[in-house]
Amino acid sequence: MAYHIDGSIIQNFLTRNTRPIDIHSLPEDSECSICHNPYSPPDPAYLHPLHPDTETEYALQIVGRGACTHIFGRRCLERHIRAGQPWSHSCPLCRAEWFPPPRAGRWDAVVRVEDALNVLVRIQSDDENVMLEVESVERNLRGIREILYERRWL
Ligand SMILES: [Zn+2]
Ligand SMILES: [Zn+2]
Repeated sequence: MAYHIDGSIIQNFLTRNTRPIDIHSLPEDSECSICHNPYSPPDPAYLHPLHPDTETEYALQIVGRGACTHIFGRRCLERHIRAGQPWSHSCPLCRAEWFPPPRAGRWDAVVRVEDALNVLVRIQSDDENVMLEVESVERNLRGIREILYERRWL
């Protein structure tokens, strides 16, 4: 079962709960605690915090998440969150939960509902009653999908 964290949750977290750190304010031999590479010097062109077109390891600090104020390279931080693991929602150093854990079972249910909806779309019949029943099953499946999506933490 795949764990899935919605892209909007990741974007919200990176936007609201991380801030760039000027490496000159860190001890001289500071390195990313995940990949152990030195942080890159600050770049004036750096767009905080979503920087998809670069692999550069800028230093980011976790903010507004209680006691966890750990600093990571942005590349490693994103990779950690996007890894789809049961621990991808929490700090690798102090285990603080940055956002609610992804729900594998819930995501599995969404995938099955999508599969069923895709099959229904292909059903063609000249019998009006059959098509009415297909429509009613479709309506119910859409309802289930809405319930599954309702809480944003998939
Ligand atoms: Zn790193
Ligand atoms: Zn932490």
